[in-house]
Amino acid sequence: MSDASPSTARIPDEYLPNIDKVLIPAEDIAAKLDELAAEIDRDYAGRELLLVGVLKGAIFVVSDLHRRLGVPAAVDFMAVSSYGSATTSSGVVRILKDLDTQIEGQDVLVVEDIVDSGLTLDYLLKNLRSRRPASVEVLSLLTKPSRREVDLPIRYVGFEVPDVFVVGYGLDFAEHYRGLSDIVTLKPEAYGG
Ligand code: 5GP
Repeated sequence: MSDASPSTARIPDEYLPNIDKVLIPAEDIAAKLDELAAEIDRDYAGRELLLVGVLKGAIFVVSDLHRRLGVPAAVDFMAVSSYGSATTSSGVVRILKDLDTQIEGQDVLVVEDIVDSGLTLDYLLKNLRSRRPASVEVLSLLTKPSRREVDLPIRYVGFEVPDVFVVGYGLDFAEHYRGLSDIVTLKPEAYGG
């Protein structure tokens, strides 16, 4: 993370009272995506990738990563809903939008915003593997290792975060805060925590 003081300049005034602090500034996210894209380029040299973005939280990770890749990559999206409270997942997952394409024989990279308990991703990986891709790996911008309930192979991790509720850069609370450039924490009273 950056040594510079995190700035709140890009946060709408309406959101400011609810925000606790900037956890990961946009500049750090960009630098991390540069690193991860270079690693992916090395790992997949001579191959073609299918990026599978998990809606809606991964929208910015997918687009910012995709533009940095040197290997040819196609992109597709899935939307899943995991039942549970507003801030925790139950592991019961429903597919709201499936892939448009067949993935049999393809090198798939699932792109996630955050892996918390891991239950949603566990379901998704089992589902995707049943379609016989050549390979399936995972990139998650954020991970909360202390919350993990299932052991998951996350090949590319952006940042480990503590057990706090974060929003911004694709992550929402009740559809708010998704468009923030930075990843921030909310005051507990702002999400009923
Ligand atoms: P899991 O199944 O790993 O517990 O939860 C995964 C999903 O829960 C994420 O894709 C995300 O939608 C949501 N989630 C988990 N932790 C956070 C968080 O700190 N902030 C936000 N906004 N969503 C979270």
